[in-house]
Amino acid sequence: MTARLDIGAVLRLILSYAAEMVGAEVGLIALREPDGTLKVVAFYGIPAHLLPRFAPLLTDLPRLVDLQQRTGWQIPDLQRRLNMVASAVGMPLEQIVSLPLAVDEELLGIIYLLRSGGVAFSHDDRRLLMAFAAQAAIAVRNARLYSELVAEKQRLDAVIENSADGIMILDPYRRVETINRALLRMIGRRREDVLGKHCSEFLALRDVTGKNLCQGRDVEIELPRQGTVYAEGELDRPVGKRTVVGVRFTPLWDEAGCLRNIIVNVVDITRYREAEEMKTTFISVISHELKTPVALIKGYATTLAREDAHWDEETLREGLHIIEEESDRLNGLIDNLLDASRIQAGVLKLELGDVSVPQLARQVVERFSTQTEKHRFELDFPEDFPVVLADEERLRQVLNNLISNAIKYSPDGGVIRVGGWADADQVTVYVADQGIGIPPEEQGRLFQRFYRVDSSLRRKTQGAGLGLFLCKSLVEAHGGRIWVRSEPGKGSTFFFTLPRR
Ligand code: ADP
Repeated sequence: MTARLDIGAVLRLILSYAAEMVGAEVGLIALREPDGTLKVVAFYGIPAHLLPRFAPLLTDLPRLVDLQQRTGWQIPDLQRRLNMVASAVGMPLEQIVSLPLAVDEELLGIIYLLRSGGVAFSHDDRRLLMAFAAQAAIAVRNARLYSELVAEKQRLDAVIENSADGIMILDPYRRVETINRALLRMIGRRREDVLGKHCSEFLALRDVTGKNLCQGRDVEIELPRQGTVYAEGELDRPVGKRTVVGVRFTPLWDEAGCLRNIIVNVVDITRYREAEEMKTTFISVISHELKTPVALIKGYATTLAREDAHWDEETLREGLHIIEEESDRLNGLIDNLLDASRIQAGVLKLELGDVSVPQLARQVVERFSTQTEKHRFELDFPEDFPVVLADEERLRQVLNNLISNAIKYSPDGGVIRVGGWADADQVTVYVADQGIGIPPEEQGRLFQRFYRVDSSLRRKTQGAGLGLFLCKSLVEAHGGRIWVRSEPGKGSTFFFTLPRR
């Protein structure tokens, strides 16, 4: 009976054996509740509906800890309590014995046995019953420990399952015993597909050298006797976006020094990594982009200011023109940077008014057409293109960026068409060029801050990779959307929408 964990069944068994052994007609076992009261958990020889009438045996007892102090765990007024019960249930019960259920000085409950007539419970009866009670107490404690264990495990499972970090527990052979939701999401698998599998089948983690840390059946990762190993790398995923993770392996050793489990903790550090990379890119791009115009301005200014040289009118004008252009560029770049940080800080404000997009487009195109001879501009708006509620200067910025990109990224010239159409609730505007185009795999990332497609042209053209990020932020601030359609070698078309109101 000490091996069974179903406490109700165990106690009923104990009670019926004990009752039969001493010829008791009625028996009950009451266990101590967390609040100190007694609750009947097993009964013998009485119908359930009569149980409340046994209350005199369970209430008004001295505190159980105090009972413990007394020799023999005697319940005070036992005979009087018995009489009350006997008359309440209408049974001729005359004798009663109470036995403590105690383990290690801890009182878990009481067994009562009651019988009618016959000789009083003898000393031997008591000794026998005490032995039963001791066994019952062990069974109760085992069951309690077990249910505490179960509760503890449930708590732990809940913590693991709901952790925002990926967690899995591997057996010594690196097969998955437990895996949580966050990790399943990271690796893009279903639980039933990974449980019991070797972790290398889905957690292919490459370190900086390209070595797969989880691959192979052998011990690839040197596990320390104490502490953890940490590795960072890119998750090898068949589909989905790039995910960089930091993985901590914590081995659990048993007393004999054998590996029992490995706890694997996976944290998605993609954003952190991207932020780091962005910072590095930012510094190099910005220093390059700021330095180029400054160097030109400085160079021309120094040359033109030379006292030993006399410049003709045209050279002077040309030099000053370049200084002006480069100052404008510097100014534009600083504006872009400020806007980018305003957007990031969430303090960009729109000043809304009625805007005629075709008119705005014409102005922007006119300004650009003086700067290039290779490109031909076309405007393509219907007559009845509606006025939209927007921030004109911000829209000008969007068109400026898109059109200057169209020029920059079609070095062989061609047609640049700016047009649009209106639907019931929104207008769509596009800028199309016949330039170098954008590979499909790059198209999703163009709108990120500081992102520039790596090409030979990129290295030749200037740019901070902020233009499209700003376009996207500005269009979205208006409640619109921006996207690109492009074919490498054929050209690109950038579209954006604006709500009509
Ligand atoms: P920048 O032009 O300063 O590099 P943008 O954010 O404006 O930054 O553009 C990001 C990248 O998108 C560019 O570096 C370029 O590779 C690509 N791109 C933008 N517009 C075009 C276009 N019209 N045709 C081809 N590539 C483009």
